Amino acid sequence: AKAALRERICFYQAEMDEAARGRRSLAAAVWEALDRKQFHLNFQVQKKVSTGEITGFEVLLRWRHPEWGLVPPMDFIPLAEECGAILPIGEWVLRAACRAAAGWSHPYTVAVNLSAVQLGDDGLADQVAAILAETGLAPHRLELEMTETAIVVDKAHSLRILRRIKAMGVSIAIDDFGVGYSSLETLRTFPFDKIKLDRSFMNEIEHSPESKAILRAILALGRSLNIPVLAEGVETRSQLDILDVEGCTEAQGYFLGRPGPVATDTVETPANA
Ligand code: C2E
Ligand code: CA
Ligand code: CA
Ligand code: CA
Repeated sequence: AKAALRERICFYQAEMDEAARGRRSLAAAVWEALDRKQFHLNFQVQKKVSTGEITGFEVLLRWRHPEWGLVPPMDFIPLAEECGAILPIGEWVLRAACRAAAGWSHPYTVAVNLSAVQLGDDGLADQVAAILAETGLAPHRLELEMTETAIVVDKAHSLRILRRIKAMGVSIAIDDFGVGYSSLETLRTFPFDKIKLDRSFMNEIEHSPESKAILRAILALGRSLNIPVLAEGVETRSQLDILDVEGCTEAQGYFLGRPGPVATDTVETPANA
């Protein structure tokens, strides 16, 4: 019995080592991905709910590995944060996004996701200023999205950085609002220009009176704070209809447009159809 147990422990050990090796080689691959030009951006349209008018595009990072194919952001961003690679990657995303947006024929906004690690980096505000100058993008066309979890790592630091960034004219959006760590204090303290309602609400608003009541409360909160609310993950016409009735400002989701390699305004406008 003792031998069997020892064998089992060894087996687990070997598996753990393999997992650790796997993580190390994944981390190495993430570090190399920038130099090897394996990253590209996708753009997902954001529209006004009442008119269907395009307001902007969110930038979503894509990693195509020669052997593994497309690796989903959720599989490599946490690791890139852990090993620090998110700093050069995040800078690359910001620069590529601003450069792309500066070339659009309409002055849509471009929304870029920021990780907690970038937010904690002292150089972020200067980096944003330098990239705006370099690409010639008007500051008011850039929107930075961040989750509450990222902001609260070091609230005082986040507040300082975000105030500097806002002073340049750049907008700040709170991402995935309404799930996980959500406190009204964050809304009270931070100078958000937009609330992005987490997409988990969309799954439920058609069937759950509780979710709909919470949606209403968040929309009322947005109105009284004068902060527009964008609903994420809109997949059906009936979800969009509910948002319209409830007075939600903007929406994003597969029903309005899937993420794609170019920011296109040729997508049909369902709210008007
Ligand atoms: P997120 O910021 O909440 O981005 C929205 C995610 O929802 C995207 O997944 C998008 O493709 C997906 N989505 C959009 N519309 C719908 C819909 O109607 N239904 C459903 N089910 N999903 C929809 P994606 O591209 O896989 O990105 C996942 C997460 O990875 C993002 O969540 C964000 O947290 C992170 N991420 C993506 N790009 C970047 C980046 O450049 N930097 C950082 N730090 N994080 C990024
Ligand atoms: Ca986002
Ligand atoms: Ca804006
Ligand atoms: Ca989100």
